[in-house]
Amino acid sequence: MARHRTELQESSPDGKPPFHRKGIGVSPGIAIGPAYLYARISFEVEKRSIDDDKLEFEVTRFESAVRKAERDLHKIIDVTREKLGEESSSIFEAQLLILRDEAVYPEVVKYIQSHEVNAGYAVQTVMGKHRQMMEASDSEYLRERANDLLDIQERIVRHLRRGRILSAVEEETIVVAESLTAADIILFSRRGILGCATDFGGPTSHVSIMARALALPSVVSMHGITGEVQTGDMLILDGIKGELIVNPDEETLAAYRTMQERYARLLQRDKQLLHLPAETLDGHRIQLQANLELKEELDLLAAYGAEGIGLFRTEMLLLMEGKVLVTEEEQFENYKNVVDVASPGETTFRILDLGGDKMLPMGHREHNPFLGWRGIRIMLDKKDLLIPQLRAILRASIFGPTRILLPMITSLSEVREFKEVLTSTMNALTEEEIPFNPDVPLGIMVEVPSVALMADLFAKEVDFFSIGTNDLTQYVLAVDRGNDLVAELYDEMHPAVLKLIKLTTKAAAKAGIPVSLCGELATNLRAVPVLLGLGITSLSASPIYLLAIKRVIRAMKLSEGEALAKRALSSSDAEEFKEIMDNWLDKHACGVSFFLEGNVA
Ligand code: PEP
Ligand code: MG
Repeated sequence: MARHRTELQESSPDGKPPFHRKGIGVSPGIAIGPAYLYARISFEVEKRSIDDDKLEFEVTRFESAVRKAERDLHKIIDVTREKLGEESSSIFEAQLLILRDEAVYPEVVKYIQSHEVNAGYAVQTVMGKHRQMMEASDSEYLRERANDLLDIQERIVRHLRRGRILSAVEEETIVVAESLTAADIILFSRRGILGCATDFGGPTSHVSIMARALALPSVVSMHGITGEVQTGDMLILDGIKGELIVNPDEETLAAYRTMQERYARLLQRDKQLLHLPAETLDGHRIQLQANLELKEELDLLAAYGAEGIGLFRTEMLLLMEGKVLVTEEEQFENYKNVVDVASPGETTFRILDLGGDKMLPMGHREHNPFLGWRGIRIMLDKKDLLIPQLRAILRASIFGPTRILLPMITSLSEVREFKEVLTSTMNALTEEEIPFNPDVPLGIMVEVPSVALMADLFAKEVDFFSIGTNDLTQYVLAVDRGNDLVAELYDEMHPAVLKLIKLTTKAAAKAGIPVSLCGELATNLRAVPVLLGLGITSLSASPIYLLAIKRVIRAMKLSEGEALAKRALSSSDAEEFKEIMDNWLDKHACGVSFFLEGNVA
């Protein structure tokens, strides 16, 4: 890639100076084409006084605009269902509910009547107030949902002004925008756009999820890109590395066109793997499961051939609906739906993993949050969070295979204390005659070195292990996983990390319990043969990576993995070993190295 960067010094075919910008690649693939700068037309609605006798008419106008917005959303839901399936449309079903939300609809009507103002101004004021509250929240989930609210607000206002509703863009362009809504991306995809680059957004925003489901290359978090790109500029959008090259020279364009063709061929080839088992050449079957965190991602399970959910991060589902925590009943409905869709595959619900870089309830702040009040430590202290979640998971467990996974375990006493809570929760459900599966397997994340080092003792206490290399790496190497300054030191393939993985698989094998690996290391394709060689028999990753991982598995022998693992464990230099692995990949699983730099969460 360095080669392309130097080429950027030369000028582009139409003489404009080339430059490149980095963001977060949230949907892999390469798009090449002209930019279309999409500016959300937001109307600042002026305040108008409405005469007393016209107020009723103003309320009727509002009601009619809401009905039209509902009609739009029904259309968008139909398109989404057709293109992406049932689950993906739930984003817009939630928007439909907001339209009639008790906190919004009657408040707007009241505002029109009590302030004697025009409907548009009332909508802007009332919804704007709710949006601002969401934008100021500590919760990433709520901040992103504020976008949904803006979408609805603008939809109603445009209908009140009889404006155009369609998100119009030029066909065959790469859309560059400050931010996009889920509805925008659905409508744009119908116009055949090539990809998206936005100033804002994160990997878990609805737009990113939609982009992945639509296989639309996308890069987000490109702060300020809308100020640097003009409509018509030639762009190369690399959703794998999270890069945008603006006005590239001929040579760079040609190189990326070749890459684009290669990538398309790889995807085509991947599709043929969908129904084939993840089995090594010498007949060892590996389980491939998905890491999910939103119900809108459930359609990806079938699309990428996941055998169940190896890690369901519950943080997002729990921090919904404008509250820090949803009720047991709301959680139950959500979990039941997840289990239903994943079944007959299993669903592994991880107990709420707050703290670290994820928001804490009650706005608590710490100097050293990754070493502080986090994961199971919070949950054991706050039974009012733990018990409703546990009850909801247990109740969902009768709808399909369900497992419970504990985050951030460091000592045996935590497991034992949790088991006491589990038993008393089960007893309470039995007394209330509420059905649940009493044999639901209980597992722990192996993400703190103490657990890997004492894995033999933990293996006697639990039913399965799930290795979380994201945290394991930061704790064993003393490198903050989110700090750019030390990112170079954060190495998931460090021999020390691999040694801890080996200790864990060995203890699990001895105790006869399953062990899977659900950290991002599973998506590092050069590591896959080594991981299998270390005794990992199940990998869980973001679904878009599963077919590429399967390709690597089907190209290797377990015996080869074991030999590579041996070398990796004894190597003092991870860098040298990575080169060996890259050569191995090129030789055996031609093409997969394409995905190596991907940074999709
Ligand atoms: C991990 O630590 O590897 C893991 C999978 O959990 P999270 O990324 O949610 O901390
Ligand atoms: Mg973790």
